[in-house]
Formats: sequence, C-alpha cells, structure tokens
Amino acid sequence: MGFLTNKKALIVGVASNRSIAWGIAEAMAKQGCEIALSYQTQKLKKRVDKCAALCNSNIVIECDVGSDLSIEKTFTKLKSHWDNFDILVHSVAFASHEALDGNYIEVTTRDNFATAHDISSYSFTALAKAANPMLNDNGALLTVSYLGAIRAIPNYNVMGVAKASLEANVRYMAAALGPRRGIRVNAVSAGPIKTLAASGIKNFGKLLDYAVNNSALKRNVTTEEVGNVAAFLCSDLASGITGEITYVDSGYSVYDQGPNL
Ligand code: NAD
Repeated sequence: MGFLTNKKALIVGVASNRSIAWGIAEAMAKQGCEIALSYQTQKLKKRVDKCAALCNSNIVIECDVGSDLSIEKTFTKLKSHWDNFDILVHSVAFASHEALDGNYIEVTTRDNFATAHDISSYSFTALAKAANPMLNDNGALLTVSYLGAIRAIPNYNVMGVAKASLEANVRYMAAALGPRRGIRVNAVSAGPIKTLAASGIKNFGKLLDYAVNNSALKRNVTTEEVGNVAAFLCSDLASGITGEITYVDSGYSVYDQGPNL
C-alpha cells in the first residue's frame, strides 16, 4: 500500500513526458494516489491524456491559469468527478522568450514582468482560492521553484524575481491555510532539467553541464526524483512540514568546489 493511498491530487502543468509535473503525477500514482490532470491548451491534450493513462486516470481538464474564468470552469468540471480532494500541484511558469536572454535591466519590461509574475506566482494563489472549498482538511499544496529565486542566475532574469515571489507566496499561503484546516503549502526547488519551459532560457544546456560539475552528487536530477520528493511532501508523512522550500538539486545549492587544494 502506497503512502498516498486514499488521496486525490489535481496536477497542473503537464506539457510533455519531460515535464516535472509528469514526474510528480507518476510518483504520486505509484504511491496509490488518484490523479486528475489539467492541460493549458487543446494542443497539449493528447500528451496529457498519455500521462493520465499511465496514472490510471480519466480526468483530464483544460485550465489556463491566466484566466479566472478558466480556473473556475476547471473546478466545476473537477466537481463532476470528485466531491473533494487532498492535493493540488502547481508546476507552471511562463516568461516571454526575450525576457530570458541577456542583461536583466535591458530585457525586462513592465509587460513581461507582470506576465511572469501573474502566470508563475499569482496563479498558485488563484488555484488555491478556487480549490479551497473542495480541499479536504489536512490537504497539501505544492509548487515548483528554482534557485534563481535566491541567486541572480544569467538569463533567468525576471523568472528569478517571479520565483522569489512564488517562494514568498508559499510562506503566506501556508500561514493563511494552516490554522483552521491544517492545509500545508510547500515547494520543491528543482535543479535544472531539460523540459519545454527550460528550453526557453538562453544557454540552458550550459547551465545543465555547470550543475553537474558544481554539485555534490556530480549529476543532474530527474523528474522522477523531484516527483518522489513532491509525493512525500504532499503525504501525511510530511504532516509537520509547511511553508518550506525543499531542494532537489544534487546538492548544488549547498556545494562549493573551493580552491583547488
Ligand atoms: P514544462 O514546459 O514541462 O511545464 C511548464 C508548464 O507550464 C506547461 O505544462 C505549460 O503548459 C504550463 N503553463 C504555462 N503557462 C500556463 C498557463 N497560462 N496556464 C496553464 N498552464 C500554463 O516545464 P517544467 O520545467 O516541467 O516546468 C514546471 C515548473 O518547474 C515551472 O514552474 C518551472 O519554472 C519549474 N522548474 C523547472 C526547472 C527546469 O530546469 N526544468 C527547474 C526548477 C523549476
């Protein structure tokens, strides 16, 4: 029996079999969790259907997190399958391609700043608001962050600022949802992984290689590894953890190569 048996999770953010959300869905399903998935646009539905099949799920719902109406419709549809659920995973980010290439001051605009924050941070709050009436007591919310939230990483630019907002969001949401119903809110901060979103960041391949050479484990992480930690954080095994950012990055964020002694 898996440690998520009798739990139900809605996972937002599968776009391909490389998506971190795909790894999270598979890891949760392996632990006995019932899964519902959402897709951003019709174009992505076929791939999300594949993920659903692997997770023994037939719940696949459209959701554009940039639209309150779309979010509302998503939960109306979810309600036709489930009266309530336990886990919400937000594995979503967006910034325009131009914003992720070059000098931060030069490439950041009022527009791309607002969009990055809306889709990559506020949408977590928006989903939590809409999910709240259906969420069971002691439920868990989880999002996916990156080290760019706390360090200035070349080309990550406005996405790093949005991730800093997302991480603060985790803490405020934990404080807002914890007291009455024991709902926990956490993030995993993943090391670099080659996904569709990551390919929008200039020189991402170099970042992957750099992370191998400068991490304690001397390798990149996999979506399966991120998924396993996400599954743990959303389970009752992690009942004492909330408002936390947990790094799944081969130890990159705590490692310093030091001088060549
Ligand atoms: P991905 O491209 O597979 O997933 C990004 C998802 O965001 C896609 O499913 C896309 O459809 C969704 N999305 C974007 N705008 C949306 C909208 N308006 N409505 C609904 N969905 C929308 O890439 P990924 O790397 O798996 O990204 C998932 C999360 O992991 C993101 O928050 C990303 O910043 C984070 N992350 C990625 C890495 C990495 O190196 N890949 C590292 C750390 C954190």
